[in-house]
Amino acid sequence: MENLGVDPSSVTRPRSSNLSLARASLLGCSALLLSIFLLVAMLLVFIAHDQNHEAEAHSRFDAENALQSFERLSRKTIKDYAFWGDAYQHLHLTVDTDWAFVRQNLGPTLFSDLGYQGVFVVDPTDRTVYSVVYGQLRTVTLQGWLNRSMSALIAQARQGADSASAVSTFVDMDGAPALVAAAALSPGTDPDVQRDQRPPSVLLFVARFDPARLATLGRDYGVDQLRVAATGAEATVFPRMTLADDAVAVQWTPERPGDRLLVLVLPLLACAGLVFGLMSWFILRRTTAAARVMDANHASLAASRSALAASEERFRDVAEASSDWIWEVDEQLHFTYLSERFEVVTGLSRERCLGRPLDEILSSEQSALSTWFKGHARRANAVLQCNYQSGDGQARVCRLSVREMEGRGYRGTATDITEEVEARRRIEYLSHHDALTGLANRTRMQEFLDGKLKATPTLEAPLVMLSVDLDRFKPVNDLLGHAAGDQVLNEVSQRLAGCLRDDDLVARIGGDEFVLVVAGMASQQEVENLCRRLIDCIELPFYIAEHEVFISASIGIAMAPADATLAEELLRYADIALYEAKEAGRNTWRFYAGDMNARIVERRQLESDLRLAIKQDQLRLHFQPRYRLQGKQLAGAEALVRWQHPQRGLLGPELFIPIAEETGLILPLSNWVLHTACRVAASWPDGVVVSVNLSSTEFQRGHLVARVKAALTETGLDPARLELELTESVMLDDAEGALGIMQSLKALGVRLLMDDFGTGYSSLSYLRSFPFDGLKIDRSFVGGLTASGGDHSIIQAIVGLGRALSLTVTAEGVETHDQFSALRDVQCDEAQGFYLSEPMDAQAIAQLLRRSADPS
Ligand code: C2E
Ligand code: CA
Ligand code: CA
Repeated sequence: MENLGVDPSSVTRPRSSNLSLARASLLGCSALLLSIFLLVAMLLVFIAHDQNHEAEAHSRFDAENALQSFERLSRKTIKDYAFWGDAYQHLHLTVDTDWAFVRQNLGPTLFSDLGYQGVFVVDPTDRTVYSVVYGQLRTVTLQGWLNRSMSALIAQARQGADSASAVSTFVDMDGAPALVAAAALSPGTDPDVQRDQRPPSVLLFVARFDPARLATLGRDYGVDQLRVAATGAEATVFPRMTLADDAVAVQWTPERPGDRLLVLVLPLLACAGLVFGLMSWFILRRTTAAARVMDANHASLAASRSALAASEERFRDVAEASSDWIWEVDEQLHFTYLSERFEVVTGLSRERCLGRPLDEILSSEQSALSTWFKGHARRANAVLQCNYQSGDGQARVCRLSVREMEGRGYRGTATDITEEVEARRRIEYLSHHDALTGLANRTRMQEFLDGKLKATPTLEAPLVMLSVDLDRFKPVNDLLGHAAGDQVLNEVSQRLAGCLRDDDLVARIGGDEFVLVVAGMASQQEVENLCRRLIDCIELPFYIAEHEVFISASIGIAMAPADATLAEELLRYADIALYEAKEAGRNTWRFYAGDMNARIVERRQLESDLRLAIKQDQLRLHFQPRYRLQGKQLAGAEALVRWQHPQRGLLGPELFIPIAEETGLILPLSNWVLHTACRVAASWPDGVVVSVNLSSTEFQRGHLVARVKAALTETGLDPARLELELTESVMLDDAEGALGIMQSLKALGVRLLMDDFGTGYSSLSYLRSFPFDGLKIDRSFVGGLTASGGDHSIIQAIVGLGRALSLTVTAEGVETHDQFSALRDVQCDEAQGFYLSEPMDAQAIAQLLRRSADPS
């Protein structure tokens, strides 16, 4: 794919816009300049602070210098006065105030000219002997005036006497500093002055700094506003200098050149910053606008690029994540591209398939691929189902979606839908087939039939429909379990299918109902042969878990177009024919005939007539005698019901008993038979029994035991003289329930006979485990008895069995003398049949009994 070659890094690298780029660089510049501004400002502040600090140090030095200079000056001055022989003479040896004050040697000029407010002389005993205060001679003591003792200073001064040195100190004098300078009076080098032995007197000058004087002193030394140190907040603002040990201190206002610098330069700096800020804001605006325009262009470019990259990425992801593979072919339908998934999905090699024609790998059932591509590829949703063989040789199915690339061939995706197709096929199959046997079901059969009928079968080549119903299948299910039933059904299915050709159809449309659709049968004989084959097949024994099971089948036949041309009708007619076959004694087949329908209508009519029959006393009871073979004595009679139909005359039980059983009318009918039989038999001689036939349906519902008991008590018949005949089907339907009922019946004292013995397939086992008193060999066995033998051995075996089980064995349907004598030969107990006596009404049998009781 030519447009897939995008460098992945360009896809992943974040791309900033021009706008943000411009903004970022301008902001960066501004930040840099701002920090330079800040740095300069900080530097300025630092310099200013440093300058202030230096200025302060200077001023401190100046202040110190001012005071120290004054102190030095004072010491020098006092030395001049103290180390002077005249002063020693006039103020130590004697105190001559006249000399000192009046003659102005140490008088007022010291105050007026030099500014010493106090001039004192203390004698060797520290007594003030001379004092001039504010230029006036006074008599105050030094201590009194200063308000403190200066003895330490005085002592110090005396020590310096020899070295001619003066001492000084600052003291606090009424809140202002005062310098006290002291020097011992000494004659110095004056040879004329005689010295005494006393300690020298000491001269003291006191200069007090009031605010004006302090300020003047400071000004002289360049110290601004030198003053006594304040207390409180102001004290910490300005520099301060402690003068003496005690608290007296001075302060001054130093110059602050740094502040000046700041005041001068900072506004300038701020102005410059403002101008710069405005400029950069302006530039930012301009560049932002420009960048926006560029970004707009750029953004659309970037957006389309990233969209392309995203879509390609998406394509790759989808291509590799999906189960589909992607392909491209050129105009000649040769593969030019196959996605990686191709190999994973198909198991075929990409390398080997590229360049090969499409139809070498894929094929379609619809049409040749090249034709299809030309016809369909331009459509929006061109999709084609294709078959191919996977790498491991398995047949697979895929769905191709195709798109034409203008003049460059075609491309599309291929989805493997093998499983989907298979699942669909499976569902399709299941919906058309019977899950148990795998045969077609009703739906499929109907479709098949419709299809066949559309091909319009002819009389010469008819379509034959066979409706097959198994006889005696229900007992298999009930007796041997459903698994056995299923097994039989499966085998039946196979046997049926085995009788047909492949293009015929066998369907299972109900429990044990099958439908066969067969074509190509030319004659009725051919159809009959088929039916024979089918029945023969089904009659073969089934071996189900040690059991040998026999079933049979009845078949109804309908043909198109002779009987019907619609599927539904054909089915219905085949069913009617089937019903007829069953009616005809099962195990046979019937072709549908027009009058069958009429017969069914007739049956419906009979059904409603039968309801009335019981109420309107249309039922008749005949009796067929039964004889002991030894001595040919009359042992009893079987009660056989008839229906005196008002229109149809006397009807046999085969015509209406099945209807009665189906409709539930069997209960009132059977009750009537029971009562009538017992009432009639009650008038017979002792020892003659009456047999009453019971339907298996009576065992299933309708309180049989109570009904029998009621009939006995109402008629007063000895229970031992009542026999009940039941067939194997009673036990097949519900063996356990049947056993319970039979035991209850036995408890009443009645006898139980198994009727139609030998027609079922498990009669023997029933005989053993159920309380029977006798059995009646079915007339089909007896019919086979001939003079030459025939079924002789079977009858003999049954008789032997009856004997072994102490059962009375009766042979039914004895029609000939040969049969009679054959039965006598095998020592059968009793016999019944037309040869001996036909069924007769109550009156007739009464006469017969009378005659046999009185043979004369
Ligand atoms: P089944 O119990 O086997 O009764 C004997 C049938 O054989 C009777 O037919 C009888 O007329 C017939 N039969 C007797 N001797 C011969 C003979 O030598 N040859 C031939 N071919 N047939 C002979 P029927 O009366 O038509 O009864 C037919 C069936 O109807 C009976 O067969 C029985 O199963 C049923 N049935 C009759 N009466 C009643 C009844 O009152 N209640 C019930 N539930 N079923 C009844
Ligand atoms: Ca019977
Ligand atoms: Ca019978």
